[in-house]
Amino acid sequence: RSVYVNGDYLPEGEAKISIFDRGFLMADGVYEVTTVIDGKLIDFDGHFTRLQRSLDELGIENPMDRDAWLEVHRQLVDQNALDQGMIYLQVTRGAPGDRDFVFPDPETTKPTVVLFTQSNPALVDSPKAKKGIKVITIDDIRWGRRDIKTVQLLYPSMGKMMAIKQGADDAWMVQEGCVTEGTSNNAYIIKDGRIVTRALSNDILHGITRAAVLRFAQEAQMPVEERSFTVQEAMQADEAFVTSASTFVMPVVEIDGARLGTGAPGPLALRLREIYIEESRKAAI
Ligand code: PLP
Repeated sequence: RSVYVNGDYLPEGEAKISIFDRGFLMADGVYEVTTVIDGKLIDFDGHFTRLQRSLDELGIENPMDRDAWLEVHRQLVDQNALDQGMIYLQVTRGAPGDRDFVFPDPETTKPTVVLFTQSNPALVDSPKAKKGIKVITIDDIRWGRRDIKTVQLLYPSMGKMMAIKQGADDAWMVQEGCVTEGTSNNAYIIKDGRIVTRALSNDILHGITRAAVLRFAQEAQMPVEERSFTVQEAMQADEAFVTSASTFVMPVVEIDGARLGTGAPGPLALRLREIYIEESRKAAI
C-alpha cells in the first residue's frame, strides 16, 4: 500500500513518525474517514469542513487547504487503485523534542499528517445490511467534547468489544437515560413513520452521513424529529438504524436483546440506505 506522511508518498513499511508525536503520547490529534465508491470520494467537502472545525477547536493549524487535501486523497485512490473502501486521515499537533503537557510552539512544531487507504469491496453490497445489527447499551463515560473528532477512541473501542463479547455487533452509549450515539456512528429510531435522532450538541459527533440522510429523508417526505430518545423508547420502536461514512445506513434489529418489529431490517431504514447510496454516488467527486 502507498501511504502519505508529511508530504511524501511511501510504501506503508517505510512510513515513520516520531515517538514524541503528541498524537501517539496524548491523543492530541483529529481524524476523518472519507468513503470511496467507484474510485470517487463521498462528501469530501463535508469531511474537509468538519476537519477544519475540529482543528480550530483544538488550536491546531490546518497544514493544507481544501484543494491540497483533495489532491492527496485522489493520489492515494490512484496509487492504490482503490475502487471501494475508505481514506483515513489524521492530523496531530506534531512532535516536539520532549513530552510536555504544554502545547509546543506552532512556529517550530508543525502538525503531523498521515493518510492511508483501506479497501472494502463489500461496502455497498453489505451482507450485514441485509441482516441488520444487534446493539447493546452502555454508559457514555466519554469526555464532554464529542463534537471534536479526536483520535481518543479507547472507550468506544472497549464498548465495541463489550458488544462482541455479548454476541452483539455494537454498543449505543447512554447518558441520563437517553442514547447519545453508537461507538462510531449516529443512532436513530423510527416510530409510526417518524425518524428520531438526537439533536446536535457537544454530546455527539456531527455526522456527515447524518446531515445527508436527514436531508434525503426530508426530501422523501419522511418526518424527522431531532430530539433525545430513551432506551425504553428505542426498545419499543418499529425500526432503528445507525449512520456513518463507512456503513452508510445500517439497520439495527435488536437492542439489549429486545427484537425490533419482526427482527429483520425495517423498510424505511432500507429505503434510506438505498437513497443515500444512490444520491451520494451521483454527487461523489
Ligand atoms: N459518531 C461517532 C462517535 C463516530 O465515530 C462517527 C464516525 O466515525 C459518527 C458518529 C458518524 O460520523 P460520519 O457520518 O461523519 O462518519
